Amino acid sequence: MGTQGLGITFLTLPLVVRAATGGQWCYDSQDPKCGPSHWKELKATCGGDKQSPVNIDRRRLQRDSALGDILFERYDQAPPGKWRLANDGHTVMLSLASELASEHITISSGGLPGRYRALQLHFHWGSPAGNGSEHTLDGHQLPMELHIVHMNVKYQTLAEAKGHPNGLAVLGFFFQVSETPNTNYNTIVGGLRNVSSAGQSVDLASTFRLDTLLPPPSRLSGYYRYQGSLTTPDCSEVVIWTVFEEPVAIGREQLRAFVSTLHFPADGPRLLKMTNNFRPPQPLGGRKVFASRAATASGAPPGRGRCHLLFPLLLLALLVPFSPHP
Ligand SMILES: [Zn+2]
Repeated sequence: MGTQGLGITFLTLPLVVRAATGGQWCYDSQDPKCGPSHWKELKATCGGDKQSPVNIDRRRLQRDSALGDILFERYDQAPPGKWRLANDGHTVMLSLASELASEHITISSGGLPGRYRALQLHFHWGSPAGNGSEHTLDGHQLPMELHIVHMNVKYQTLAEAKGHPNGLAVLGFFFQVSETPNTNYNTIVGGLRNVSSAGQSVDLASTFRLDTLLPPPSRLSGYYRYQGSLTTPDCSEVVIWTVFEEPVAIGREQLRAFVSTLHFPADGPRLLKMTNNFRPPQPLGGRKVFASRAATASGAPPGRGRCHLLFPLLLLALLVPFSPHP
């Protein structure tokens, strides 16, 4: 009787575990069995040919002079109401949506086919050992990436927007680590400890100007544009991507707070830190990445280009005196 009970326990346990992750997607850092390489088994779209993120190869950009400045509306006002910060089990997300059209935070122009309202923002990051951006720049991953998800105002619901290739516009921002904290991120970073477990959410004490999270306005003219997808299942290919050239500065300790405070959904008693929640770059295929009018289109920005020349020259100067002469 007793051994029979034990047998059933052993038999059913793996089934329960599988039910918990079955049909669920995850990152390799959680469980390689449901990581990005398996997403297409759950959702065929994830194996499509217009997937995101991609590597942005600055030697292969195509300049598009029609890509002027993006018009940011109500990015410079702290809206009334509440913003909710949540750990959704895959990232930390700040919901920005308001029911009132008059309070919508929107983007338009800059080659976007219409106006798009901000729905939510979230982040992708790495681990103490490595970077975690989704888009890569000339093959390099950056420490973290912010996504601000916008929906075409002509659609009423996300489901409706997902039915159209121009349904969503996502703004992507890279981060670079600085020794001093970026105090504009204090509200979000301070809220992380309240959402350390998956499923937790908290109303922020106050809203704030969204533009304080971005690089200075003068640096928003330089960006890259391509047609892609959501970077998580269902991987809908309905996103007009704008990835900005100028990174956002974030303090080392602030970045560490993302890496060390949040947790993936518990798998039994094991608490697993939320790390490396990025999808690797997907094939660009026949797509092109366009550079805005003001972007630094070809390779390294001025200054760094000269460094590439200077270094071999310095090396040569150092080596020449020691070279054996016949
Ligand atoms: Zn994202």
